[in-house]
Parts: sequence; structure tokens; C-alpha cells
Amino acid sequence: MNVSDRALDFFFREGPAVFFTATPDFPWVIQSISGNVEAQLGYSVQSILNSPTLLWDSIHPEDREQSTKHVHILETKGSSEHLCRMRKTDGTYVLVQGEFRLLRDDKGAPEAVIGYWTDRTERERSRAILSAIPDSIFEVDREGRFTFYQTHRSLDLSRSTGMSLHDMMPKDVADLLLNAVQRALNTKETQTVKYVMPHGKTWRHYQANFGTSLSQDTAVAIIRDITDDVLHEKALSEQKRFLEEANVSLEQFVYIASHDLREPLIGVAGYATLLQKRYGTSLDETAHRFIEGITQGTRNMEAKIDDLLALSRVNRGNQMGSFPLGTAIDAAKRSLVGPLSTCAVEFKLPGVTPLLKGDRGQVTQVFQNLFSNSIKYRSPDKPVTIEISTKPDPQNPHMLIVSVTDNGIGFDPKHAERIFGVFQRLYTIQQYPGTGIGLAIVKKIVERHNGKVWATSQPGQGSTFSFTLPLAS
Ligand code: ADP
Repeated sequence: MNVSDRALDFFFREGPAVFFTATPDFPWVIQSISGNVEAQLGYSVQSILNSPTLLWDSIHPEDREQSTKHVHILETKGSSEHLCRMRKTDGTYVLVQGEFRLLRDDKGAPEAVIGYWTDRTERERSRAILSAIPDSIFEVDREGRFTFYQTHRSLDLSRSTGMSLHDMMPKDVADLLLNAVQRALNTKETQTVKYVMPHGKTWRHYQANFGTSLSQDTAVAIIRDITDDVLHEKALSEQKRFLEEANVSLEQFVYIASHDLREPLIGVAGYATLLQKRYGTSLDETAHRFIEGITQGTRNMEAKIDDLLALSRVNRGNQMGSFPLGTAIDAAKRSLVGPLSTCAVEFKLPGVTPLLKGDRGQVTQVFQNLFSNSIKYRSPDKPVTIEISTKPDPQNPHMLIVSVTDNGIGFDPKHAERIFGVFQRLYTIQQYPGTGIGLAIVKKIVERHNGKVWATSQPGQGSTFSFTLPLAS
């Protein structure tokens, strides 16, 4: 074989197009076909030559009517182009696009059909993927002239043939986009810009990502309408601001109300004492009991007001710093006063105490409240033990889980969430003194440190209060 024969042989065996010749009358009988048909459809050249209708039969049944029409076009016009699906020997289909010519002899009588087809499956798949993308896609050159566009939703580029960014958009937006195009072309790095465009009587927000195309002298842009996201984000941040403001004014209200409630309370307590002092001798035992009731009631109320004030001040705590967990535990132990300090408590402390990031005074307060509860709600028949343990938070490597476990009276786990609410108690004040605010303060302090708090218990089995705190990095 000479060089050009070899080149043709190579082309027919390995090239992208399958060539054939056939008899001119329908149904055509294939008379020769290039060897690459085997790689494309799986049929050997010989099997096609042996079986005249093999290729026609492999056309997808839904495409046959259209294919017959194209045969007629060929017969009348002398040429035709055609797109159809052909079944491979493995049963799958490829999409092929072919071009056919009718050759005539000197007298004009049909002599043969010649033609070729190429596999368009991948191209068609890319087109289908592209058209399924809910964004607008376009390609522009360095001057901002459109070379390709595909639109979706509200950004209308449908009249953009032969136009440039500046013909289609307000000048400031076009300048911004053209700048991004040129940056993408110069740096070869993806550029992202956000902008707003008028749309009817409203405005819509867009995000454009520019990348460079294969030939490197045009930029491909994907434009996404982000209006819904922007509006959603705006609504969320407004809601957050509203909630924060509401929270601040609620805290101020609690603070002022607690302050102002003190005054009449001191008055009531004062008059009860006066009554006792001046008229004590002339009052009977029942009256003394009543006065004692008033005094006790005012003391309880004073304690509640103090705790409410403490609760309202949590968010105005000190700045966060770093400190070893052990220092907060020690400080809390030392601060146990009154009957709490006289009770024998066995503390089991963690071997190592990690460095935390937080408000040391408030973390001390957390331990103080939990320790005093462990002592207050102790079992009548056992000495108190309080064990403090720590472990890393599996859900967040920056947080530490701290647990305080006692051997006290415990509680029904169905109350495990409720007891963190303000004034939520499981006993009367006669059974156990208290205001029902201690755990609410614990929760608020932990949440100020971006942590969570929870409790587990069973009646008579002791309780465990766990919370997470940030580790110093
Ligand atoms: P207070 O102790 O003043 O009632 P808290 O907010 O500290 O208020 O606790 C709320 C309730 O949770 C308590 O009334 C008690 O019923 C229950 N509780 C708290 N800590 C323990 C504990 N260590 N063991 C058993 N019950 C507890």
C-alpha cells in the first residue's frame, strides 16, 4: 500500500465517521462499509454485507418513520441529512448523525447511495446536561460580545445574538461583568461577582461565575438568580436582630421589675418585724405564726428576686478568657456556704483538667449551682459523692463535655428538660428550699458559651448533669 492508501485505510478503520456505499433503490443494500463500524455498533463488516437489512433493522423503532422520510428527500433532492438512534450489538443505542448523497450515472439514472455518519451520543448528553442546568449560561469574548448563550428563568438574553454585555445590561452591571471577564481571561482563575438588576417593577439578585473556555479567549459565565436566597437570608437576619432586641428588652424588664419589687417587699418585711416588736406581747400564738409566715414569704420572694436578677445579668458577664477547668471546680467547692459547707461530700475529680475558653466566674457559678443541688437533693441514707468527669465532644472537636454525677435522690427522667425552666421545681418549698432558678442560670451560662446542657437520672439512682464548654484552642 502506498502512503495515501494507508492514510485512507487508517481513516476508514479508526476515524470518527463510518462510510458506506449502497444500492440506490430502497431498501438499500450495503455494498461496502468502513471497518470502524465494528467499533461503533459492534457489527462486523462481513455481517452487514451478508445481511442487507441489518443496519435498517437496527434503527430505533421510534425513528424509522422519520428515516423513511429522509430516504424520500434523498431520492427527490439528491442529498439529505439525518439524525437517528441505532442499536448496538449489546442492545444499547447510539445517536448518529449522517449525510447521504445519491450518485447518478451519465444519463441521470440513480447509480448508488454514498454517505457517512458520526456518533453524536456524547455531544447530545452534554447538551442535555447543559439544558437541565437551572442557570443561565453564556460565553463572551474579551470585548464582552456574546458567542453563546442559553437562558433560564428571569434573565432574558434571548435577543442577544451579535450583541455585547453593554447592549443587554445597565452600564454599571455590564462594566462589572466585563471586568470579571477580563480578570478571568488574564488570571485563568474563576471570578465570582454578585449584582442586582431591575426586573419589571422589582429587583433581582444574581451571582455570576466566570471561567475561561478551552480556547482561552472567551469566558464562560454561569449566572444564577440568587434573589430567593438573598431575601431569605435578609429575612433571617432581620428575625435574628428582632429576637436579640426582644431578648435585651426582656432582660432589662426583668432587671427593672426585680429591682422595683424589692422596695415594697422590704416594706412588708419591715412592718412584720415592727408588728412583732411593738405588739408581740399582746398577740397570741396563732398571730405569731402568721407573722412568721409573712416573714418567711418575704424571704422566699427576696431569694427569687435575687436569682431572677442573677439570671437577667448572665448575658452581661465578663469577657471570655482561658483558664483550667480545675480552677473553676475548686472555686465552686470553696464557695459552698451554710448547711452545704458542713455536709460531708466526697468529690471525685478528673485527673487532668483541660484549658477552657470562657467566663471563669460564670463557669464557677455553674459548678456551684450543680454542687449545691447534689447536696440539697442528697439521699437520706448515704454520704454524698459528686464525681466530675470530662470527655471530648464527638460532635464538635472544639468543645468539651463535662459531667457532674451525684448519688442523690434523682428524679423521673420525664422532667429532665422541664427542670431547666425558670421557677420549675419538683418539690414544694417546705420539702426542699429553693427558687427553681438555679438550673435556668446554668443553662443560660452554658448557652452564652455556645454549649448545651442536659440531665439524666432515675428516681433513687442519682443524677448526672452534663454540659459542653469551648476548649481553649
Ligand atoms: P431549686 O433547686 O432551687 O428548686 P433548680 O433550678 O436548681 O432549682 O432545680 C430545679 C429542680 O430540679 C429542683 O427543684 C429539683 O427538683 C431538681 N433537681 C435539680 N438538681 C437535682 C439533683 N442533683 N438531684 C435531684 N433533683 C434535682
